[in-house]
Amino acid sequence: MRPVLIRGLTAAAATTLVAGLGIFAATSASAAAGCRVDYSVNQWNVGFTANVTVTNLGDPISGGWNVTWTFPGNQQVTQGWSATITQSGANVTATNPSWSTTIATNGTANFGFNASYSGTNTAPATFKLNGTACTGTAPTTSPTTSPTTSPTTSPTTSPTTSPTTSPTSSPPGNKVDNPYAGVKGYVNPEWKAKADAETGGSRVSNNPTAVWLDRIAAIAGTSGGSMGLAAHLDAALAQGAGYIQLVIYDLPGRDCAALASNGELGPNDLPRYKSEYIDPIATIEGNAKYKSLRIINVVEIDSLPNLITNTSGQAGATAMCDTMKSNGGYVNGIAYALQKLGAIGNVYNYLDAAHHGWIGWSSNFKPTADLMYQTAVASGSVNNVTGFITDTANYSTLTEPYFTINTTVNGTSVRQSKWVDWNDYVDELTFAQGFRNQLVADGFPSGIGMLIDTSRNGWGGSARPTKASTSTDVNTFVNESRIDRRIHAGNWCNQSGAGLGERPKAAPAAGIDAYVWVKPPGESDGSSSLIPNNEGKGFDQMCDPTYTGNARNGNSMSGALPNAPISGAWFSAQFQQLMANAYPPLS
Ligand code: BGC
Repeated sequence: MRPVLIRGLTAAAATTLVAGLGIFAATSASAAAGCRVDYSVNQWNVGFTANVTVTNLGDPISGGWNVTWTFPGNQQVTQGWSATITQSGANVTATNPSWSTTIATNGTANFGFNASYSGTNTAPATFKLNGTACTGTAPTTSPTTSPTTSPTTSPTTSPTTSPTTSPTSSPPGNKVDNPYAGVKGYVNPEWKAKADAETGGSRVSNNPTAVWLDRIAAIAGTSGGSMGLAAHLDAALAQGAGYIQLVIYDLPGRDCAALASNGELGPNDLPRYKSEYIDPIATIEGNAKYKSLRIINVVEIDSLPNLITNTSGQAGATAMCDTMKSNGGYVNGIAYALQKLGAIGNVYNYLDAAHHGWIGWSSNFKPTADLMYQTAVASGSVNNVTGFITDTANYSTLTEPYFTINTTVNGTSVRQSKWVDWNDYVDELTFAQGFRNQLVADGFPSGIGMLIDTSRNGWGGSARPTKASTSTDVNTFVNESRIDRRIHAGNWCNQSGAGLGERPKAAPAAGIDAYVWVKPPGESDGSSSLIPNNEGKGFDQMCDPTYTGNARNGNSMSGALPNAPISGAWFSAQFQQLMANAYPPLS
């Protein structure tokens, strides 16, 4: 697992912030029903941002789609997302992105663009989907898909079993709004035993942490005695726990932008992901004996954000991320997981949304939300998603107490400091709340909730600043004031100086379902040097304390602790440091 820092195209994106003078929606309506287009615009005097949702009212579309229209005025598209948009004169064509080639009957595709104009910004009169004019009226019920419309791209990757319950537009079962509220969490006895074996570890070992299903073998448990999924669920019932947290983490071509958490499945193993990983998990989670438990899945850390920031055209591009984008393995794998698991009445899916030091720049922010919306739609219903999680296994602080994004130093915005680097956020709580708003604006239900992984973002101890700096130099001010003591916000592996963060807590702030410990404190992020293993884990230089960095972390030192074992393995020195630097401190 490896969060990456990618700096945004801030100047261009700043323009869109001036928007907001008018919003209107144009929907064509008549009897024939091939498709329907909802076109909404947020405009200012010389430009606008458009959001386009096309609903397929005809036969299922596979193998790609395009939406065409003619602008009545002199509108000119300047930038698009979630579709490739080309314009010739007044004629515009939006072509599907590689990860979205299908639209089920009653399914939707969504994309957007920025454009300039002068005079009047009249909406196009007609849109066509694959050449058919979209004259359909709004469906009386919200779009649903049947189990036959799997989120797959080709017949060879169809689900081997169909979901037992079809995804509907309302959540199946009696899902509660916040599964963390009012009940106690499952304490993983395997993690607790390791924490208890550490001096002082019993001070924290009773906290609920997530169980990572990080390989197929983790579902059944290993012959070496480690507990499988059913054993954990049985133990949760025996503990009288109200919820259990699991991490779904085995996508084909996993961790495409790094090496420390590469997994067992190759880039083309989507069929195996479905049949050997997700299907067995769904069978166990769907067992009626676990009905009273709220089963919480944290779904596929880092993967969708990697498709936004680490593919061709981006500074962080890798060949594996390009492959996973073009073969649809991530989007289709996640859509399948959301569909199968979301269909179970007591199961709650939270999709991973990286962290502020990754998608907090405006150039990454909305495209990531758009891709999440597309992926949820591809699962058959946005209600397969209960919410999103940020900061998973990362170290971004919850709140910077001594400055905000609006702070200026001697007339200079903190955004101009090297540390903030034009990001729109300086900490995780404001980011999670802001991203939630974007997701709702994109079309997710307003009831979605956020989680923040606070397992290692405490930043206490003697190095923690106790007041705002009085420096009038913006860089000195930020560096002396910030409680996130990393060398660079792009550093992510076994960070020196980090501490345990807020203890797990339900409904701690507006829009936040819970602070959670998803990364179990004490488990390594990656080895400091290559250690042969049979889990597919590689060696990432960002885990080597002597590494001097790359463009993604401002060519800074990695800030990693020395002598670390492979990701997921117990790292005693790190656990001791996390306790020593806990914030709030341990008593
Ligand atoms: C590793 C997993 C491990 C998880 C929790 C990830 O970085 O790749 O194998 O289970 O961390 O420690």
